[in-house]
Amino acid sequence: METYDYLIVGADLFGATFAYEAKKRGKKCLVIDRRDHLGGNIYCENVEGINVHKYGAHIFHTSSKYLWDYVNQFVEFNRYTNSPLANYNGEIYNLPFNMNIFNKLWGVVTPQEAKEKIEEQRKEAAITRPRNLEEQAISLVGTDIYEKLIKGYTEKQWGRKALNFLPLSLTDYRYDLPTIIIISTIRTKGFRLADIMSLLIKC
Ligand SMILES: Cc1cc2nc3c(=O)[nH]c(=O)nc-3n(C[C@H](O)[C@H](O)[C@H](O)COP(=O)(O)OP(=O)(O)OC[C@H]3O[C@@H](n4cnc5c(N)ncnc54)[C@H](O)[C@@H]3O)c2cc1C
Repeated sequence: METYDYLIVGADLFGATFAYEAKKRGKKCLVIDRRDHLGGNIYCENVEGINVHKYGAHIFHTSSKYLWDYVNQFVEFNRYTNSPLANYNGEIYNLPFNMNIFNKLWGVVTPQEAKEKIEEQRKEAAITRPRNLEEQAISLVGTDIYEKLIKGYTEKQWGRKALNFLPLSLTDYRYDLPTIIIISTIRTKGFRLADIMSLLIKC
């Protein structure tokens, strides 16, 4: 009977990177997955010559040169500029947030005015000890931004109510607005692609 050092459940980014790094260190791994393909959520299917993200579009973003070099040893990346628009009940907003949004939401013109508006809403919500992701997001960015740009996006993406996500430890993050939307999309597994890669490689 074959024996292994590690049984890895999930042939996804996490499992695959773990298996790769463990094998390099002389360990024997068995990787299993209930899906019939590798890659987990980032899997692409070739449809008539076009790579289609089966489970939704994925963009790799990192500010770490080390990570960037690491992933580039396996694949070549396409250069891509992400400029999405959000449609919230027929209102169109830029993502990530910018001054256009704040102007549209509150008629403000300067970053300072936007900051004050957010501060006003944070104070109004008076959440000091958030019990879930919803309360956490509101306590950081106020109700308008949460309702229009975070709530629906997060719940649709993960198929769960924001009330059912535990609040996250934000100690390692800067509390700026783009960060909040990223944090808000972190859910059960707790990390996004680049974070997962960085943890695994350091194992
Ligand atoms: C629509 C969408 C868009 C996203 N866009 C981005 C993006 O642009 N950039 C970004 O950084 N992140 C994005 N994410 C987040 C990203 O998909 C995840 O952070 C990442 O895929 C998590 O990787 P993972 O290796 O933890 O596992 P996953 O990719 O979640 O894969 C888990 C694997 O484990 C298998 N598995 C689970 N349980 C079992 C079991 N009991 N037995 C056998 N197999 C099992 C599953 O079949 C699956 O293949 C997006 C997510 C979604 C849903």
